[in-house]
Amino acid sequence: HHFPYKNHSTLLCPSVSKKGPRWAHMTTTTTAAAGTRRNKKIVVILGATGSGKSKLSVDLASRFFTSSEIINSDKIQVYNGLDITTNKIPLHERENVPHHLLGEFHPSNSHPDFTPSDYRSHCAATISKILSRQHIPIIAGGSNSFIYALLAEKFSPEIDVFSESDSINSVICKQVRYNCCFVWVDVSLPVLNQYLVKRVDDMLDSGMFEELADYFNDPDSDSVSQSGLKNAIGIPEFARYFNRFKNKAVTELENRLAYEEAVKAVKDNTCQLAKRQLGKILRLRDAAGWDLKRIDATAAFTAKLAGKRVEDIWEREVVEPSVKIVKRFLME
Ligand code: ATP
Repeated sequence: HHFPYKNHSTLLCPSVSKKGPRWAHMTTTTTAAAGTRRNKKIVVILGATGSGKSKLSVDLASRFFTSSEIINSDKIQVYNGLDITTNKIPLHERENVPHHLLGEFHPSNSHPDFTPSDYRSHCAATISKILSRQHIPIIAGGSNSFIYALLAEKFSPEIDVFSESDSINSVICKQVRYNCCFVWVDVSLPVLNQYLVKRVDDMLDSGMFEELADYFNDPDSDSVSQSGLKNAIGIPEFARYFNRFKNKAVTELENRLAYEEAVKAVKDNTCQLAKRQLGKILRLRDAAGWDLKRIDATAAFTAKLAGKRVEDIWEREVVEPSVKIVKRFLME
């Protein structure tokens, strides 16, 4: 389970190995800038919501590479609070792998929202620290706008590269400022949608409703509701449910109907989010030309939905091919 290149010190560039990662090679024929980029190796896991990115990142980090650290790239999960509603990976599933930019920021009204530009600089600083420890940074999360902001060699905050415009091909940045290994966990959308609908029910069983009730009952809720969490799926959908019933008595039936309406809206919006995210991933592949290695995790999800044992399929169809891709990348 050791990092494959630990003992191959002859391959390492001495001037880099003091500061940079151990897997940095001699780059005598490349330019200085390209050489630097080449030494900054990071793994980036892409995928729509619910596709298993967090699990895969921990699987890669904990079972195969002893020295990896995970950095969150979900724009809602950077804030603390609403852990169930926003699907933060629970502590016990993190397997002692360090997680960064996960629930680190207070969603306060007094701070402006955490922007893609903020992510670009915070994440770059985190990556530098991880690389200086000679560990592998693994970026995992669903916000492709954050991933683009982080990686684009030249990033312009005012250009929305995910807008529906045809001229995007000429402005989207094709060069990345790190040496990236992109792993894209893909699940066929109809299957993913079925899973997402079930996941909302599971989240409600795990306390999502109570978490939202606390959020709306918070005396500071006005300031909280202005914060970065205000757009988290669950908040707008349940706002009507909680606010409508605040000051008046309602019948059991009205209550139940409003609840069901909110749950349905959460399910619909989660499925729409997955579809939008998939569109953004395809844009990174097709318009930016980033070399995304696609891993098809559909079979694991089909098994899960059928109530079958899923661990072996996940291992064989998702973890093993991902490990192969990352190993090859680290040895390049
Ligand atoms: P956009 O340009 O649509 O904001 P993006 O790539 O910046 O896209 P996404 O991660 O796709 O960001 O999130 C878009 C929206 O999806 C968020 O504003 C929020 O409503 C919802 N969302 C994303 N992640 C979560 C999450 N973890 N929990 C709840 N809602 C989320």
